[in-house]
Amino acid sequence: MKLHEYQSKQIFARYGVPIPNGRVASTAAEARQIASELGGRVVVKAQVLVGGRGKAGGVKLAQSPDEAEEIATRLLSMEIKGLPVRKVLVDEAADIRKEIYLGITNDRAARRPVIMASAAGGVDIEEVARETPEKIVKVYIHPLLGLQDYQIRNVAAGIELPKELWREFGKILSGLWQAYQNSDATLAEINPLVVTGDGHLLAVDGKMLIDDNALMRHPDLAEMRDTDEEDPTEVEARKYGLSFIKLDGSIGCMVNGAGLAMTTMDIVKLFGGSPANFLDIGGGASAEKVAAAFRIILSDPNIKAVLINIFGGITRGDLVAQGILQAMEEVKPEVPMIVRLVGTNAEEGRKLLEKANMITAETLADAAQKAVKAAQGA
Ligand code: GDP
Ligand code: MN
Repeated sequence: MKLHEYQSKQIFARYGVPIPNGRVASTAAEARQIASELGGRVVVKAQVLVGGRGKAGGVKLAQSPDEAEEIATRLLSMEIKGLPVRKVLVDEAADIRKEIYLGITNDRAARRPVIMASAAGGVDIEEVARETPEKIVKVYIHPLLGLQDYQIRNVAAGIELPKELWREFGKILSGLWQAYQNSDATLAEINPLVVTGDGHLLAVDGKMLIDDNALMRHPDLAEMRDTDEEDPTEVEARKYGLSFIKLDGSIGCMVNGAGLAMTTMDIVKLFGGSPANFLDIGGGASAEKVAAAFRIILSDPNIKAVLINIFGGITRGDLVAQGILQAMEEVKPEVPMIVRLVGTNAEEGRKLLEKANMITAETLADAAQKAVKAAQGA
């Protein structure tokens, strides 16, 4: 789950990271009010869950409350990379002398969190990473030992931070690490962490990604989810406890079990097709859940065929079939449907489905080939 800049910075602040004074607004009038409370010179920032807002015109300085209102009006009516701006953050403008990049993420290959820092922070950090990766310092954190003082000093030295800022930097990096760890984050990033005109450090931007699988132990963070910014089908899927990821192919896949879902996608590709989604309905799915899965798959206009691959164990074939039939009544699909059903109560399920004019298959290879053919209109 992605958090907005204002949410990420609020979390960082709880761990002692200095952030600018400011508040979030959903109307231009509110933005004006906040700007006048802050004394006029502010930065107005579109809150959307994508990076590169600055380059896309979503971060603007204002010299007065009037100008803040004007900018907010403009930002609140624009889209950034396809996402409508519904909120703006109004922060006291920072006097920036230097921009540093500081982030912690999970390095899966190294199997531990890694700190990344660079003296070349700011909006071009992706380019820096691509073209001059030696300008990025990496320090790995042992998951049990945690962040050590010497590591903080190594990062500070690595980015050639002036000595007089090391104390402040140490507090910020420890705070960021604690925020990362205590939130079960997969990313906690400050870009830029700035050196201000009066010689202090300030986190001007913030970004956090939280591990979805850990949200059940963070109800406060789960509440921060902004479903307006997410793919509506993925929001719907979560409501029914379905693991769903939208892809850009043409064959909808409904499968029980994550491993089987991946296998199904691979086999579809093997026979020249392209999956429209990953979908795991889970074990013991109810008819209602299957119906929801079906609705979600069919709401995708790119769908040319649906492949249903169910291995009945805990999940019962007849219940799955009932769910499919129930959903078909609701959504009245016009695309061919191919079913492979094996295991518990498969026979009963297959009988129900044959009545509904579905193409049945015995093996996964057979089902995938039929689905690819159907999608190609053969
Ligand atoms: P991003 O483009 O989505 O990463 O948004 P940021 O919040 O990082 O802002 C982009 C850039 O705008 C920063 O790298 C700064 O150069 C600039 N910027 C942001 N806030 C301020 C501010 O308060 N004062 C000044 N002078 N520049 C700012
Ligand atoms: Mn940024």
